[in-house]
Amino acid sequence: MKKILLIALLCLPMLSQGQDTSFARRIIRDLSSPAMYGRSCGHSGDSIAAEYLRNEMRSLGLRPLVENYFQPVYYDVYDIDSCDLTIGKRQYKPYEEFRIYSAKRYATEKHLKKAKKKKLVDGVWYIGVDKLHTYSPVAGPYERNPYCVEILNSCFPRSFKKLSANIDLIHNTDYKSQNIMGFFRGEVDTMIVFTAHYDHCGTMGEHVYFPGAHDNASGVAAVLDLARIASASKPHYTLVYMLFCGEESGLKGSKTAVENSPIDLSKVKALVNIDMFCGGEKGLMVFNANADDTKPYIDRLETINEKWELVPAIKRRDNSPNSDHYPFSSQCPAMFFITMGGPNGNYHDPADTCKSCGLQYYVNNMRMILGMLGMDFEQ
Ligand SMILES: [Zn+2]
Repeated sequence: MKKILLIALLCLPMLSQGQDTSFARRIIRDLSSPAMYGRSCGHSGDSIAAEYLRNEMRSLGLRPLVENYFQPVYYDVYDIDSCDLTIGKRQYKPYEEFRIYSAKRYATEKHLKKAKKKKLVDGVWYIGVDKLHTYSPVAGPYERNPYCVEILNSCFPRSFKKLSANIDLIHNTDYKSQNIMGFFRGEVDTMIVFTAHYDHCGTMGEHVYFPGAHDNASGVAAVLDLARIASASKPHYTLVYMLFCGEESGLKGSKTAVENSPIDLSKVKALVNIDMFCGGEKGLMVFNANADDTKPYIDRLETINEKWELVPAIKRRDNSPNSDHYPFSSQCPAMFFITMGGPNGNYHDPADTCKSCGLQYYVNNMRMILGMLGMDFEQ
């Protein structure tokens, strides 16, 4: 028994020493910094991030999969340039006390009928709600007007007599962003692909931005870290790394990557998408875990965890269009990894900062993925 255990230990390369979180921490810190403006179209935050990530790929020795590592992507996106709201003498706090949404989506007749507090001022609905909707660019005002302003019921003003609202939305129907793609050539053409989206929710005026440390600077850090680990030796399979834009606006980057694929998707042995990878005190969740072509991977993941107890739990979920694995999932075995539980900043929240990003489970989560793929874990 002892002998078997020893052999297993020696055969499990993922348990090599030396892995730490310093590389990931640096990437998360830089991507979630104010200089990236929440990585959307406002202040060209996405392009600043893309340039940074291209440099990282270069310094890791990745070769460009597309010209200069950038694959152009065009999509409809919005951001908020300014959003000052004052009623009477009270200045409202963006995000905390009010949020801005597409009137089409939220100021529907049903919605308005239900709302106890509401007021139409200059064509804009101000609606009182007990809980503000989750912030998301998908819910944004895709036409410059109309939009609506949700205000917490507890802050809803009695009178709108002295309303001054300076809300300036940036809406670009044909915004040019880019996916970033690099690779290491292996001994064979068969590929393993790692993906993560680097865009996030942008800004809410001058004073609020969405750092997106957990969502998804952490996933980008993990993908680059996987490249760093692989760079130490010549890989057997060709390894491809794709960082997508436009996920928050509806998987735009990954859809373009499939429609205009620079690789032969029939040669992809496995695709691992990582979206929200810090925290993890409750374990790992895998979407598209039950398909015929992905199930064997997850079975292996469970076997590894039964033996080594690297993560608190593994949850299997069916396929869902909730991240960038989805457009690939009809073409190749594509799985989406997300952590369960904290510590992390809240979802689509200005509190999703590097500081709130717990990486206690990071190394073991990486070991799980590498072990599942049968890859070395040397550094
Ligand atoms: Zn998100």
